[in-house]
Amino acid sequence: MFNLPKLPFNDTDLEPYISAKTIMYHHTKHHQTYVTNLNNLIENTSFSGKTLEEIIMLSKNDSAHMGIFNNAAQVWNHTFYWNCLQNKGQTPSQKTQDMLVRDFGSIEVFKEQFKQAALTQFGSGWAWLILDDGHFKIMKTSNADLPMAHGKTAVLTCDVWEHAYYLDYQNKRGEYIDIFMDHLINWEFVESFL
Ligand code: FE
Repeated sequence: MFNLPKLPFNDTDLEPYISAKTIMYHHTKHHQTYVTNLNNLIENTSFSGKTLEEIIMLSKNDSAHMGIFNNAAQVWNHTFYWNCLQNKGQTPSQKTQDMLVRDFGSIEVFKEQFKQAALTQFGSGWAWLILDDGHFKIMKTSNADLPMAHGKTAVLTCDVWEHAYYLDYQNKRGEYIDIFMDHLINWEFVESFL
């Protein structure tokens, strides 16, 4: 039985960049629905009692359990996404900046490549910064798919499902991504994986 995790911030904390209304719907409606669906789908099955990560890894690439995978992954993705957000003016540490320069050439190229991944994810999905053999890489996934299912370690994500930005930015996904990159990344959370 899974519960909706509490947000690591107040729902007004990301204003003016992400409204309290967006956070409220995204957390208490969308995220909650994935939790509720997952609980209903795993009840009285072999998945019951397993951790979220175990459920994701056991149900991936299994067409008979696609609903379980999608809802479990979306529960995980959203909890991870909330942890990636802050509005306290954080910037990456010198060590992180050095790693970004080593792996992308410059901070600007990192931002461009992350934005490109987030912008070109056709339809619903996620843009990620991942660690692959100790190196940062950019990844994008569709719908509920996530780096874990591909043996990669996520360190940052941006939700590019329309529900993440439509109330505040309508169809302008690019503006939402720019705001995310420039103001909202919780670098302390990213650095907890380094
Ligand atoms: Fe979402």
